[in-house]
Amino acid sequence: MDIVVSGMRPTGRLHIGHYFGAIRNWVKLQEQYDCYFFVADWHALTTHFEDTSHIKENSREMVLDWLASGINIDKAVIFIQSLNPYHSELFLLLSMITPISWLERCPTYKEIKQEMSKDGKDLSNYGFLGYPVLMTSDIILYDAKYVPVGIDQLPHIELSRELVRRFNFYFGEDLFFEPEAYITESPKIPGIDGRKMSKSYNNAIWLHDDLKDVEKKILTMMTDTNRKRRVDPGDPEKCPVFDYHKIFSIEEEKRFIIEGCTGAKIGCIDCKRILLSHLIDFLSSFQEKRVLITDSYRDKDLYEILENAQNKALNKAKSKMKKIREALKF
Ligand code: SF4
Repeated sequence: MDIVVSGMRPTGRLHIGHYFGAIRNWVKLQEQYDCYFFVADWHALTTHFEDTSHIKENSREMVLDWLASGINIDKAVIFIQSLNPYHSELFLLLSMITPISWLERCPTYKEIKQEMSKDGKDLSNYGFLGYPVLMTSDIILYDAKYVPVGIDQLPHIELSRELVRRFNFYFGEDLFFEPEAYITESPKIPGIDGRKMSKSYNNAIWLHDDLKDVEKKILTMMTDTNRKRRVDPGDPEKCPVFDYHKIFSIEEEKRFIIEGCTGAKIGCIDCKRILLSHLIDFLSSFQEKRVLITDSYRDKDLYEILENAQNKALNKAKSKMKKIREALKF
């Protein structure tokens, strides 16, 4: 079976943006491919190196959320990046052949650096500049054919492909495959204020949110700003609430909302109540599964939960690293 590799930084519990943007796709991919999903804890350090105190706990919580979302530990190999030193060895070797200019031209590099400098964060560290190289080693160490990504991450995959070509050119034509981007369907899921859903904007709907809080969040959620009064017609395409309807509501409901909104026949609260019933169903079902998962792993730390998978990933990486060392004549 073709191999798929994907990782997620352990920033803590997951919100619905993580679920619909990535995890839901992982659940499907695990049925069709040999999947390796990893906790990208070293990647967390590229931007948050000054405080590592939450990484371990965040990693555990995140993996339990994955499992409650339907990632099956018997189907996909789930592992922790920092417990697999071969990633760092390959990262070091790739660093030797990576021109700095390739990294500096990555669009996300300047964008994130500038964005975070507004909050007083200086991302001039080498680890942040080099994270696409670490990402490349995460991928090619497992001979991944596909990497599920959103359109914004395509330049990283292109960089990985360039690095593979360069490495193969220097040390052996067929050492690595060029990974391909697997563009996943990820619907737009804005935060409740209409901006990108993010912990730092305090605008997320968390998978673990208390359902009463979810009700409050949705009822006060931003709408099309043209609908100041009930008699003002609106445009669902300009409304973040309708982005949620596209995920949760059935066709008939969406038609009803489009007609009601554009013709000012329904109020925003009516519209939000329809969404709420679906969202609450979804969250309660997730939360019930999460309680079962939490109970079944109550006394285990993350390594104990993932031990078999961790060893599988380690062995695969070890045998690939052996070939790489041979190619470099070490
Ligand atoms: S009726 Fe619904 S889609 Fe239209 S503005 Fe209000 S919340 Fe948004």
